Amino acid sequence: MHNIAIQVNDLHKSYKNLDVLQGVNFTVEQGSIFALLGSNGAGKTTLIKILTTLLKQDSGAAIVNGFDVASKPAHVRQSLSLTGQFAAVDEILTGRENLIMVARLRHLKQPHQVANELLTRFGLTDAANRKASTYSGGMRRRLDLAMSLVGTPPILFLDEPSTGLDPEARIEVWSVVKGLADDGMTVLLTTQYLEEAEQLADRIAILHEGKIIASGTLTELKKLFPPAEVEYVEKQPTLEEIFLAIIGKKEGK
Ligand code: ADP
Repeated sequence: MHNIAIQVNDLHKSYKNLDVLQGVNFTVEQGSIFALLGSNGAGKTTLIKILTTLLKQDSGAAIVNGFDVASKPAHVRQSLSLTGQFAAVDEILTGRENLIMVARLRHLKQPHQVANELLTRFGLTDAANRKASTYSGGMRRRLDLAMSLVGTPPILFLDEPSTGLDPEARIEVWSVVKGLADDGMTVLLTTQYLEEAEQLADRIAILHEGKIIASGTLTELKKLFPPAEVEYVEKQPTLEEIFLAIIGKKEGK
């Protein structure tokens, strides 16, 4: 039996007439990578905002690290870090200075040591004394991730971690995220890239029209979509085909 890091029960959220979340349910096990997959506008960011206490749900409940987001928001915030679209890197500071600044803001006792450990872990030691403005996209995203991990919260929320990165930088970020999960961190990421979910996630949930319409391991999702026989060669479906098939079924096409 695994411990549960995140539990979402019948979550609803509307903006005026727009019902974005219409009863969302899922659980994320501690130490796993969970991908929330959905098209643009599906409600992924809305869900992340509720789970990180930036937005209140209309009804339903969410428990993060054992704390209810509605009644224990401060405890929830102490349990998590959030990164992705909201890059916090200060361009005029070096990589090391950025990390030390965050460590000081979080009142850690040994900011220099914390910074050095994170620089090593994220492969930024050689670039530590260069201004962040000289970093590549992948290095900057790694620095942003490192900054969000100062103080080692147990749960990491990544909102579209590789949006805007080139393929090489994307692979860099993926390997960092895998390493964090190997060290026991729970990761919930949102993505519109099927390949990202396929590469990274232990479990994948597809958010569509306000609900989770399918969830499971990649193997389980593939079973929902039987392989087609193509001239005696069995073809394995890609996650993209599964995604489109499930959405198509749902829309009755
Ligand atoms: P995703 O992250 O999956 O792209 P979002 O959660 O950002 O989706 O948005 C879901 C839907 O809600 C979109 O149609 C978006 O335009 C709408 N939306 C998001 N935020 C607001 C807001 N503050 N007010 C009104 N509509 C919003």
